[in-house]
Amino acid sequence: MVTRERIRHEPEVRRTTVERVDWLHETMVRITVTGENLRGFKAPGPNDHVKVFFPDPATEKLTTPQMTADGLKRPTDGLILSRDLTPLVFRENNSAGVPELDIDIVVHGDDAPATAFAAHAHPGQPVGIAGPRGSKLVPVGIRRAVLIADETALPAFTRWLRMLPPDVTVTSIVQVNTEEADQYLTQQHRDRSNIELLYREDGPGQLIEAVRSLGSIGDDTYVWAAGEANELVEVRRHLRRDLGLPAEQVEVEGYWKRGIVNLDHHAPLDPSDPD
Ligand SMILES: Cc1cc2nc3c(=O)[nH]c(=O)nc-3n(C[C@H](O)[C@H](O)[C@H](O)COP(=O)(O)OP(=O)(O)OC[C@H]3O[C@@H](n4cnc5c(N)ncnc54)[C@H](O)[C@@H]3O)c2cc1C
Repeated sequence: MVTRERIRHEPEVRRTTVERVDWLHETMVRITVTGENLRGFKAPGPNDHVKVFFPDPATEKLTTPQMTADGLKRPTDGLILSRDLTPLVFRENNSAGVPELDIDIVVHGDDAPATAFAAHAHPGQPVGIAGPRGSKLVPVGIRRAVLIADETALPAFTRWLRMLPPDVTVTSIVQVNTEEADQYLTQQHRDRSNIELLYREDGPGQLIEAVRSLGSIGDDTYVWAAGEANELVEVRRHLRRDLGLPAEQVEVEGYWKRGIVNLDHHAPLDPSDPD
């Protein structure tokens, strides 16, 4: 039987500072934030996420909810800008003995909070990190994992590859916009999994075709998929309805949705099947 343990974490909002900005390729930026407030940060689940709070681009002032005895409270003034992102790597002590966290952000334009922040990020900016509120640990009872990711899910995909036990066989399908995005995938990714690469510019329909061509999926396999929500509806239907996989073996998460600002990823991906 496949199971995934869930862990709750105390809510906390940590103020940090941008330490480094590294462009991995034209549309992906690695932001490293540091600060003593990060000490004790925990994200033990492969697809854990944090809420990242960005400074007001006009004033550089950071406004975040504040922890009070009654829980998190929104301040009465200041612009709150936040999006869900993946804590890629946390180091309890960097070379200066301070905790630091890497976050990789897709740059898809200049007029939305996360992408605008990533496009113009520079050392010294204040950034807030809230969460993770909970973690779902790596599944136990599996011999195989199928991972399906787009650019936004590559940080979580990387975490899955690092956290899955070595005796679990991994098959991956990665869909990206252009060939540049390949540069994100290192030899370590390729050594851990065979990866089928798809390019959106080659047209729609290839993702579901690639998933269908996996054939039947056994009861010792866990499937995780994350990316653009519309593209994943058919993927989820195929896994759950055509292949009849139970919920315990499948997680399909919309990380963003074309035309929707700040997608609520807790809302059902497929309105016709809210399970
Ligand atoms: C659990 C979780 C983990 C995530 N981890 C990461 C991560 O590590 N790195 C990362 O980059 N993203 C990640 N995302 C996705 C990210 O939260 C969304 O892409 C978010 O919408 C980006 O915010 P924004 O301010 O740039 O755009 P928004 O203000 O939310 O949206 C503005 C417009 O941009 C479009 N848009 C949003 N994202 C994209 C995109 N990638 N490409 C093209 N158009 C887009 C929207 O459809 C909308 O039309 C994660 C999401 C979730 C739910």
